[in-house]
Amino acid sequence: MTSRSWLFRRLQASHLAGRFRDLRAWSRQLSVRAEPVPRASAALVIAPHPDDESIGCGGTVALMVAAGAKVDVVYTTNGARGAADRSTAQAGPSQALAKRRAEEARAACSMLGVRDVVFLDAEDSGLHHRLDLVGALRDVVHRNAYDIVFMPWPYDGHVDHRSSFELGRRALRRITPAPAVWLYEVWTPLVPNAAVDISAAADVKRRAIACHASQLDALDYVELGMALSRYRSGLRPGAVAAEAFFVTAGNELGQFRG
Ligand SMILES: [Zn+2]
Repeated sequence: MTSRSWLFRRLQASHLAGRFRDLRAWSRQLSVRAEPVPRASAALVIAPHPDDESIGCGGTVALMVAAGAKVDVVYTTNGARGAADRSTAQAGPSQALAKRRAEEARAACSMLGVRDVVFLDAEDSGLHHRLDLVGALRDVVHRNAYDIVFMPWPYDGHVDHRSSFELGRRALRRITPAPAVWLYEVWTPLVPNAAVDISAAADVKRRAIACHASQLDALDYVELGMALSRYRSGLRPGAVAAEAFFVTAGNELGQFRG
């Protein structure tokens, strides 16, 4: 073992220990509230990739829209490195795939009742190099007085999700009044403090995920997304599907290290 790798392992261990301390502190303040459909005039979903809006919070969004809220979605990446159609050989990012995924995203958002769809168009898997996008995201956040902002939780397993949290955290700095922030889960289940019964919107959610057809050959996101919602129904007795969140505020995001 070289001294360099010893130092690396020490640093890595202390980094992980710090994260576990965060999670322990986090979980101590938790009890999971049974949330009704969130009340908001306007809400924004920050989504790392086309499909995260539906998997992470699609049922809640559909219920909010049905209750009269205006919901917008902003995608931080264009998904150009996502799963390609089996009929096309893909090496590296594909602008054709990005275009197709944008169309699928619009269809999914239409299914959920979303008002506006914005694309920041960063290349996926490289978002951690694009913190310069915070200005563009701040412009989106300032366009409307959002009561609620949905974004990925900071410890999700996908780097673009963690980077989207970090962009969102920075974009919401010094915005007053601070919107409520609902952190959602996709690849890694979060430690929730709120759960919304989405039984009435489960079918809409399923169909919205299915709009992302270019991705379904690689992985059955419809079944995976609905299985997560089924699992979370355990937090809401009587529900057949639920979405779990960690609810906090836009001016309290500094407590999380993205
Ligand atoms: Zn994603």
